[in-house]
Amino acid sequence: STPAAIAASLSAGARRGLLLKGGAVLENVGKITAAAFDKTGTLTEGKPRVTDVVGFGRAENEVLGLAAALEQGSSHPLARAILQRAGELKLPIPGIATVKAIGGKGLEGVVGTADVFLGSPQAANDRVPMSPEQNTRIAALNDEGKTVSVLIADNAIVGAIAMRDEPRPDAAAGVKALTDAGIHVVMLTGDNRRTAEAIGRQFGMEVRAELLPEDKQRIVGELKTSGFNVAKIGDGINDAPALAAADVGIAMGGGTDVALETADAAVLHGRVGDVAAMVNLSRSTMRNIF
Ligand code: ADP
Ligand code: MG
Repeated sequence: STPAAIAASLSAGARRGLLLKGGAVLENVGKITAAAFDKTGTLTEGKPRVTDVVGFGRAENEVLGLAAALEQGSSHPLARAILQRAGELKLPIPGIATVKAIGGKGLEGVVGTADVFLGSPQAANDRVPMSPEQNTRIAALNDEGKTVSVLIADNAIVGAIAMRDEPRPDAAAGVKALTDAGIHVVMLTGDNRRTAEAIGRQFGMEVRAELLPEDKQRIVGELKTSGFNVAKIGDGINDAPALAAADVGIAMGGGTDVALETADAAVLHGRVGDVAAMVNLSRSTMRNIF
């Protein structure tokens, strides 16, 4: 009977790490026509490592130490990269008076007596315009697919930290499998445009960059309005609203409790190709029923 076929597919999926919250989700996932992916932790491993520290009139270690001071209480993947590098170099980390996260942009706080900001080049430039030399240096790092966080201290641009987050090994193949299944694939990221495009080029997908969390949710809504059945795939760390706004929200790879709560489905083994596998499981189940 129909329910038995669906139950069999749900448990076959679960055995391969494809979790679907019931028959309706199984049915819907085969009907998606667009897949919107987060970058960090979804298309990439989500474990960035520091590759370059640049000082603008400051020692590199001072730049890294100030950045680490701000990041001490943060669980952002970039924070972990910066704290790890500071730890490897055994840098003394100055104490912080205050710190505040600014969603999708960075952190600001007081270190010693200095007002300090660390965040995206865009957000930094909105506070203190960068010189042409600083811009060129940072753009070159972005073009290598590196994410750059810029440090401001007492209203001067004093440094930049570049980090590389490796693509998941099957990301290009996983995106191609979806495209081959007739699905429009797009990356939604808060990261810098040049960085995101350097990575998106490797995968052959559309890129929407420099987005705030609410922009991701809005774009999912726009795709739906223009007639797509939309799956949103993310780790859920700051994209739970976008997951909830999609026709099918899929949590991937080390998904937080929030993500698993908000999501309709989850792929447990961190394989981008498992999204296409889920679509195929749905389509073959529905073909056998009807
Ligand atoms: P993503 O969409 O890749 O998850 P986020 O929205 O988390 O990106 O962050 C967007 C950008 O803001 C980052 O690329 C980085 O430049 C900056 N940023 C955000 N949080 C931090 C942080 N804790 N430390 C350094 N930079 C940060
Ligand atoms: Mg994020």
